[in-house]
Amino acid sequence: MTNREIAGLTEQYSMYIIDRIPSALVRGEGRRVWDADGQEYLDFVAGLAVNGLGHNHPKLTAAICEQAKAILHSSNLYLIEQQARLAQALCEASFADKAFICNSGTEAVEGAIKLARKWARKRLGQPKSGIVTALKSFHGRTLAALAATGQEKFQANFTPMPAGFRYVPNNDLAALEEAIDEGTCAVMLEPIQGESGVYPAEDEYLRGVRALCDDRELLLIYDEVQTGLARTGRMFCYEHSGAVPDVMTLAKGLGGGVPIGAVLATDEAAVFEPSDHGSTFGGNHLACAAALAVLEVIQEEGLVTAAQERGEQLAAGLEAMAADSPIAEVRGKGLMLAFELAVDGAKQVHRACLERGLLVNPIGDRIVRLLPPLTVTEAECEEGLGILREALGEALSAEVS
Ligand SMILES: *Cc1c(COP(=O)(O)O)cnc(C)c1O
Repeated sequence: MTNREIAGLTEQYSMYIIDRIPSALVRGEGRRVWDADGQEYLDFVAGLAVNGLGHNHPKLTAAICEQAKAILHSSNLYLIEQQARLAQALCEASFADKAFICNSGTEAVEGAIKLARKWARKRLGQPKSGIVTALKSFHGRTLAALAATGQEKFQANFTPMPAGFRYVPNNDLAALEEAIDEGTCAVMLEPIQGESGVYPAEDEYLRGVRALCDDRELLLIYDEVQTGLARTGRMFCYEHSGAVPDVMTLAKGLGGGVPIGAVLATDEAAVFEPSDHGSTFGGNHLACAAALAVLEVIQEEGLVTAAQERGEQLAAGLEAMAADSPIAEVRGKGLMLAFELAVDGAKQVHRACLERGLLVNPIGDRIVRLLPPLTVTEAECEEGLGILREALGEALSAEVS
């Protein structure tokens, strides 16, 4: 099928949830993807920080094929070796002692919210349910995760929201302190807010939040669905500040493209008991085999360091461009970057990039987010920067004329 045919079919039969770019990506290799009409792109979106290993990584592809031949799914009624090994690997790579494996980011967030409420009942002996989150946050689309998301526009059509959530501006410890009351059991933050435009929490703020949570007996939850798994140049973003959470959610990059999420917790916080929580698909053989391969490749290919180095290269390139382009600010860490324009033009920059064969992600009118695969090479970063420079030039001259 052609791009146009697929667009027609989509419009006729699929619910209208988003204005899609009219390119159907049908094949990928490394950092390159091709659409149904044969157009080639350099991929600086990586399926929204999902395809960390790039496309068709031989080790991930082989792990998926091998697992498919053995067994895909059995359910959590039974022991699952791949799930047990994945939980071990995630705990050994992080602060955590225990893991729960699910299927997506929003589901990981739901699990973390339930864990916090159960924790208050079990460890504090009190039915506390309040959770403070940040304005401009994004925690997912299911109802409790949506209630946790500090952006009214996503909630408006779906009220009433589950109760118990309060929102505070990021990087304002006094505001957070004020929002905490007798009924609060947890604080949940993205160490770098992703979907809303790549807004980092300051290290000092996160250390202050950690101290406050200790002081007031609150769980600290990090939503690392986007920032986790080497994306920011550390295995997990919390390593930048050293302010370690009690609970952490993961998803996007974990399966390299196979749907999977995880809730990680310390022994103290891992309070679920039988019948508290579960998932039919969560932690199945296929998804866990994929995630194990992803973790092995991150290790073997040194992708934590690579993400840091390539991120520095890209950020420096963007900063250099800021001198003679409408770039007002460059934000982010590692390969989770965004630049903000001083004028409206993100959509024009995006279109100009597409025409030149580069995928980037515009957010609103002024922000462009870059999330290349962790395997991106130095030469590919230069190539991407070159295209961005041209695209910015075109978008700016259109602005002036
Ligand atoms: C993407 C994202 C989610 C939601 O993940 P889904 O897999 O789309 O449900 C939650 N939290 C953060 C920080 C995210 O970036």
